[in-house]
Amino acid sequence: MVDSGQVTATLRLSVGDLRLAHPISVPAGAVPATAVVPALQGLVNATVAAAEEQIKGAGKAVSCRKGCGACCRQLVPISHTEGERLLAVIDALPGRRRAAIKTRFDEASAALARAGLRDVLLDPAQRTGRTDRELSVAYFALGIPCPFLEEESCSIHPERPLVCREYLVTSPAELCAGPVQDGVTPVPVPKISLAARGLQDDADSWFPLALLMTWSRTRRFSCRLKRTGMDWLQRFLKKLASG
Ligand code: SF4
Repeated sequence: MVDSGQVTATLRLSVGDLRLAHPISVPAGAVPATAVVPALQGLVNATVAAAEEQIKGAGKAVSCRKGCGACCRQLVPISHTEGERLLAVIDALPGRRRAAIKTRFDEASAALARAGLRDVLLDPAQRTGRTDRELSVAYFALGIPCPFLEEESCSIHPERPLVCREYLVTSPAELCAGPVQDGVTPVPVPKISLAARGLQDDADSWFPLALLMTWSRTRRFSCRLKRTGMDWLQRFLKKLASG
C-alpha cells in the first residue's frame, strides 16, 4: 500500500521463538538509509513487546525501571546508519543542550583514550585477539555514563539505539551494576539490531555509541547513497535471514 510518500507492508517474521506480524512503513522514494531507521525502531519495539509477553506467560516480569541507568554504562555497539541518524538528532537539539551533550561525548572519548581503548574500539582491525566480551568488560570497568544519560534516564528515549531497546532484564536491578553482571538475566529478545549493521556498506561494522562524535570526525563513510525504502528494507531482511 502506498500513502503520502510511504509504502506499507505487513512483515511476517519468525525470529527465534517469536512469531510476529508487524505493519511496517518506509519511504516510497529514494532516501538515505537513515530514513528507514524509524521503521526498524518500530520493528524492534514490536519484537521486544512480544518477548515481554512471552516471559509474562512464564510468570516473570521485567525489572528495568526509569531512573536505573546501570546498563547505560555498558558498551553500546551501534551501526554506521544509526550513528548518522543520532548525529542528526543531536544537530536538531537546542544549542545549550547540544553543547552539553557534545561535552559529555568529549569526556567519554578522553576517558577511553586514557584507558587505551579508544583506537581499538574505533578500528575493527585493531580488535583482533580481543573478544567483544573482553572489550565490553574492560569498557564497563571504566564506569563511563552514556553521554545521553541524564539523571539516570535516557534523554533521547524515543530515538535510543536499537540495541538499547533490546536490553531488558528480569533479575534484580542492583546486579546490573556488578563488574561482570554476574546473575543478570536478560529477557531473550532476538537481536534484530545486528541486521542493521552494514546496511549501507556491507561490512558488519559497529562502534561504541560513546565515540559517536569522535567517529563522526574521522569516518570515511558517507550517507549520500540513496535507495527506495523497500530496497533498504529488503537488504535489512536479507541480513536478518542470513543472521
Ligand atoms: S542511548 Fe539512552 S538507553 Fe542507550 S545507553 Fe544511552 S542513555 Fe542508555
